[in-house]
Amino acid sequence: MRFYIRTFGCTANNGDSKRIEALLEARGGVSVDQWMNADTVVVNTCTVTKRTELNVIRFIKKMQEANKTLILAGCMTAVWPDTLGKKKDFLQIITPRSIDTLPQPAGIDGVIGVVNIAQGCLGDCTYCIVKGARGDLVSAKLDDITSTVRRFVDLGMRELRVTSQDCSAYGRDGGGIDLSDILKAVSSIEGDFKVRVGMMNPDTLLPILDDVILAFKADKIFKFVHIPVQSGSDRVLAMMRRGYTAREFELIVDKFRSAFDDMILSTDFIVGTPYEREEDFEASVELLKRTKPEKVNITRFSPRPGTPAAAMTDIPERVKKDRSRRLTKEYRNLLKGQDKFVGKVFDVIATQRGIRGGVITRDDAYRYILVRDGLEPGEDARVKVTESRAVYLVGEVV
Ligand code: SF4
Repeated sequence: MRFYIRTFGCTANNGDSKRIEALLEARGGVSVDQWMNADTVVVNTCTVTKRTELNVIRFIKKMQEANKTLILAGCMTAVWPDTLGKKKDFLQIITPRSIDTLPQPAGIDGVIGVVNIAQGCLGDCTYCIVKGARGDLVSAKLDDITSTVRRFVDLGMRELRVTSQDCSAYGRDGGGIDLSDILKAVSSIEGDFKVRVGMMNPDTLLPILDDVILAFKADKIFKFVHIPVQSGSDRVLAMMRRGYTAREFELIVDKFRSAFDDMILSTDFIVGTPYEREEDFEASVELLKRTKPEKVNITRFSPRPGTPAAAMTDIPERVKKDRSRRLTKEYRNLLKGQDKFVGKVFDVIATQRGIRGGVITRDDAYRYILVRDGLEPGEDARVKVTESRAVYLVGEVV
């Protein structure tokens, strides 16, 4: 069997794809890097927004027209939208819950490893379909996590992505340890690697904040802090059932910023939820301006089947588009500050090939610096920034 895996969605899904790859290789399959050269195509799906769902369905239809044998995986297998058709159309269906039974994976580009520390979450957010797909929190055992990390380090990986739907919920399903213990355990493992910590929700992070900040001080942890806030309005956050206030998010950000002179704050905003009024949206704009995140994911709300928000009156698409455009404009204004890095020199790790050539490198704050020549994934280098682009930097080896 010659197989190709197409992954949609989050880091956790990329980690799952590596386990599916290991499964099919264990069955004697050969992985190919283009779907045209495959007889079997694995579609690892995501359904977090309507737009993503439509992209997935479009790809599946294309593969069916090309008479490919299909294996389906990911969140769609758990929520099965009508647009997906019949289960008999697929050779095999691999649900998110069954992933843990699959063989351990190899690396992404050979130097990036995804370490899933838990499945599911504690949340009950009114807009979210992932809860329906991934369910309640199930934390992985500490020994399984550290043995995965040791194996990745032995394989020569340099960047390890610790991930789950909500990393700071880790251990809240029993076991008496939390995310800070995981980060300390991973940081104490011998080897030349660095760790990127995945999403942490403010409500589960707040109770363990000081311990997590202490754990982030380890040299092995990238000073990259991803905390999805979703809205700057307490009224909207309550309607989303997020479990925190904008002030609490700001308090978390302030504590991280006072602990680390050089760090990257990454956050997420959803605009155009059914209950968002103009003043609520303005509160999101003001929060963005006050906290100055270096990386922002902005999503237009789309009603997801089976979620409480889908039963509410949706607001016009033009209003969503307008708010998304306005928040993006404010974010781009913040990014202008990146110019200050031109001429600066950073010690980096080369971690991945750029889509259009070159190699992506990461400094201690996980800044994205593209180097066109003279580097291979896995190498260390000293890089001087020569250009500042919209959302990344360009540099050369010095
Ligand atoms: S925490 Fe909320 S948004 Fe995140 S996966 Fe769980 S229900 Fe969805």
